[in-house]
Amino acid sequence: MKILVVGSGGREHAIIRALKKSPKAETIYALPGNGGIAADAICVEGSATDIDRVVSFSKDNGIDFVVVAPDNPLVLGMVDALNEAGIATFGPRANAAILEGSKVFSKNLMKKYGIPTARYETFDDAHAAVAYIEKMNEYPVVIKADGLALGKGVIIAQNFAEAQDAVKSIMEDKAFGASGNHIVVEQFLEGVEVSVLAFTDSKTVKPMISSMDHKRANDNDEGLNTGGMGTIAPNPHYTDAIAAECMEKIFLPTIRAMEQEGRPFKGCLYFGLMLNKNGPYVIEYNCRFGDPETQVVLPLLESDLLEIMLATYHETLADMEIRWSDKSAACVILASGGYPVKYQTGYEIHGLDADGQCEGAVVYHAGTKQSDGKYLTAGGRVLGVTCTGDTLELALEAAYKAVKNISFTDMHYRHDIGKKALSPEKF
Ligand code: ATP
Repeated sequence: MKILVVGSGGREHAIIRALKKSPKAETIYALPGNGGIAADAICVEGSATDIDRVVSFSKDNGIDFVVVAPDNPLVLGMVDALNEAGIATFGPRANAAILEGSKVFSKNLMKKYGIPTARYETFDDAHAAVAYIEKMNEYPVVIKADGLALGKGVIIAQNFAEAQDAVKSIMEDKAFGASGNHIVVEQFLEGVEVSVLAFTDSKTVKPMISSMDHKRANDNDEGLNTGGMGTIAPNPHYTDAIAAECMEKIFLPTIRAMEQEGRPFKGCLYFGLMLNKNGPYVIEYNCRFGDPETQVVLPLLESDLLEIMLATYHETLADMEIRWSDKSAACVILASGGYPVKYQTGYEIHGLDADGQCEGAVVYHAGTKQSDGKYLTAGGRVLGVTCTGDTLELALEAAYKAVKNISFTDMHYRHDIGKKALSPEKF
């Protein structure tokens, strides 16, 4: 089969590496891909949000199957356009991708179907939102822009003044553009966060191995929120008992709710969960693989990813047995100094071989490009150095050992990935 993967980050690199193992995968293209992905797929020029380009490239090149990995093209309807052109896909159609595309939609869905989530109200008027926050008088309070905001549209306000500023910045100053026309104001939940990605064909849901992200830029969860600075899998907080509870109260009800609303969800559904003393709650849904969760989850997949993806499209997931390794995985993100705010690119990356890899690890490329046979930095998050091991300690040790061999000017990474997971009783 000829496969096209849309996107250009570490997540896409991990998907491509997993797809490559399938005997059915003859040729894999990436649009646009990046410097390191070029060692594993044929990179094609274009933008991941250019629906016409992706459809015409797929038609002209006889692509059999397209994996749409990022949120934006899914929300914009790339899967709809490809299906209308007769091309099979992995990913939800736009009317299901709204689960991530609108927090107002997802919160209202959870309320309607009794899926556990933080108490909330939605607003399209800044004065009404501020009046509600003042009356509620409970801090911290969480303020969320309705639409996509590159992972930055959530503000946790510690007091009334901060909450007022947050509402103003999102609704009046339009910090996230039209994504802030509506907001969600919600109760702050204490607890431990777990990410669970799941394959679904809209009828059956098959959760993958759980994981833990590290969102803040610096050690000890200090600094600004980022796209994610590292991940581990499985997440030791996510016990079999909690998994069973999530299946019954969250995963199946979500799939059934979407089906009932006439919005069948096919693809990867990401559940961002908070394990609270009262049980698991949904913090957010994403309509696609997480980044960098994918970089630790897919290396533990023993079954054929392409077969699973085809089964989600053909709605035959119920018949599939999906096997997982009982090892652990760890991914340490190497970022450009200054990320997530201001950073320089174009620095040479040392320590990689011709294929962009280094000994003892798998290196997923996020923001890199190739020039004159060298790898150069080309984004905020540059590389994801990933290792598996019989235990989480061994996976982490191997990943940090490999990191020592890689360098570029102003390289920044966290030194405490997995620390919370290694001593879960403390948190
Ligand atoms: P992402 O980049 O993961 O897509 P997002 O912008 O969609 O992020 P959320 O995942 O909804 O935003 O929230 C971002 C982070 O804010 C969460 O990972 C969590 O740490 C925190 N958060 C969100 N809602 C709550 C809540 N109700 N209580 C406590 N913390 C919360």
